[in-house]
Amino acid sequence: MKKYNTFLVKYFVVNVVLLCASVLIYHYYAESIIPTPSLYPYYDYIIVGGGTAGCVVGALLSEASNVNVLLIEAGDEFNILSKIPLTPTLIQRGSNDWSFTSTPQKFSSFGLKNKRQFIPRGKGLGGSGQLNYLLHDVGIPSDYDNWIKLGARGWYYSDLKPYFEKIFMLEKHSSDVGTKVIKKNARVHFKNKKAQAIEIVLSDNATHRIITRNEIIISCGSIKTPQLLMLSGIGPEHHLKEHNIEVVVNSESVGRNLHDHLNFPLYVSIDKPLSVTLSKMLAIKTLTDYLWSGKGYISSSAIAAIGRGPNSTSLTLFALGSADETILREIANTDSETFRAFFPLHHNSSQEGFVFLANCLQPESRGSITLLNADPHSSPIIDPNYLSINTDIECTIRAIRLAIEVISTKAFKDIGAVIQWPKLKTCQHLWTDDVPDVYLECIVRVGALTGHHSAGTCSMAGDTPVVDQYLQLVYL
Ligand SMILES: Cc1cc2nc3c(=O)[nH]c(=O)nc-3n(C[C@H](O)[C@H](O)[C@H](O)COP(=O)(O)OP(=O)(O)OC[C@H]3O[C@@H](n4cnc5c(N)ncnc54)[C@H](O)[C@@H]3O)c2cc1C
Repeated sequence: MKKYNTFLVKYFVVNVVLLCASVLIYHYYAESIIPTPSLYPYYDYIIVGGGTAGCVVGALLSEASNVNVLLIEAGDEFNILSKIPLTPTLIQRGSNDWSFTSTPQKFSSFGLKNKRQFIPRGKGLGGSGQLNYLLHDVGIPSDYDNWIKLGARGWYYSDLKPYFEKIFMLEKHSSDVGTKVIKKNARVHFKNKKAQAIEIVLSDNATHRIITRNEIIISCGSIKTPQLLMLSGIGPEHHLKEHNIEVVVNSESVGRNLHDHLNFPLYVSIDKPLSVTLSKMLAIKTLTDYLWSGKGYISSSAIAAIGRGPNSTSLTLFALGSADETILREIANTDSETFRAFFPLHHNSSQEGFVFLANCLQPESRGSITLLNADPHSSPIIDPNYLSINTDIECTIRAIRLAIEVISTKAFKDIGAVIQWPKLKTCQHLWTDDVPDVYLECIVRVGALTGHHSAGTCSMAGDTPVVDQYLQLVYL
């Protein structure tokens, strides 16, 4: 009991110190978004959504001296937690997170509350890039080259390479010349099937129209972009009519083709002090190391390695030995029994170990984004339809078997790596020492979590593409 009280006091003191330091640092260093700039009636370009894509497009467009750009972002500024590499997870479910939840899933998520996945998405300048895990990769060339077969002319890896290089340069020399940023939730207004203006409600509570001379660029992410299009009259006709939305373009594929890959968490304990543990995270030294030198346990996202296996399999080594149960359970949306089965050593804050995230990079299951109602402030209905196609289960099982193979190597044996198989009531009767596929399928369907990489809802491919190879709406 005494040990527990000491831990709580230490926890409290660290949190107070962290909070005070955060407020001070934020006060002195945070760049502020222009709160309510005066607006012109016309802009050359209007960008809706100031996330990862919107900010890059805004910066590139504003390089031209004779162009003015308006960037509209629904969210507010991010707090200091988005700037410390290990802490963006703590932003989830806060005011800078859209905090979506999926519909109850039919083929997966059986261990989650109401079988719903919690789906965080960044809300504020920088978007989901402000609460993500900082992994950067331009992907493998063959993935892009496959897009050509689906109809995306001009998207060969070699076509895109110069732009990737430019983006990496932007990180070093970012400029916001000629760009205005405002915080609003916007809607697109069409005239004669041409996007002509955006409509926003300003502080006077009146709806204002701001007209574009050239283009409106919608970069609200894979969940909000189809919602905004449908609210603006672009989408499946019958669905828009259900919500009394005037149809501008009947575009059947808006919101279809949603896909994301699941992460299956496999906890591995080790007996060497190599990982980030809860005790290490909460130590005063960790905070002072970071504040003074930008180093230490919270200076990285704790992702120690990622590897790609054959046939679309992949592993991510998340070097977190122990973590706060309440926080992790909240963001994973799991009940207590499932959480404890997947993290059986959760009660020990000094436990060393890591989580192997096994996943299938190219899932075949497809879901959808549809409207709940015609209110732009409501969340859309998100149904990722995870694991509805059996090949995704087979592929995830292959990824788990790859993890077993890696753990059995000498390097991992030397650090005492032991897989802590989840002992779930619903799956335990399927367990045998040779870890059969039926058991793996059962634990994947219970405990796999969103991979945070939803995509495909405004597709360039298929019989009824939403956008063409220039990312312009088809049928206008
Ligand atoms: C928790 C998490 C971890 C991740 N980890 C990684 C990682 O390590 N590496 C990686 O490569 N990817 C990662 N991702 C994915 C990556 O962050 C996203 O793919 C990427 O940020 C998407 O960029 P985007 O511009 O399409 O959308 P976003 O960055 O989400 O931007 C959309 C913006 O539009 C705004 N918006 C929405 N609707 C409106 C409206 N009506 N009016 C005005 N503004 C609006 C939103 O507030 C938001 O700022 C992660 C994602 C999450 C959620």
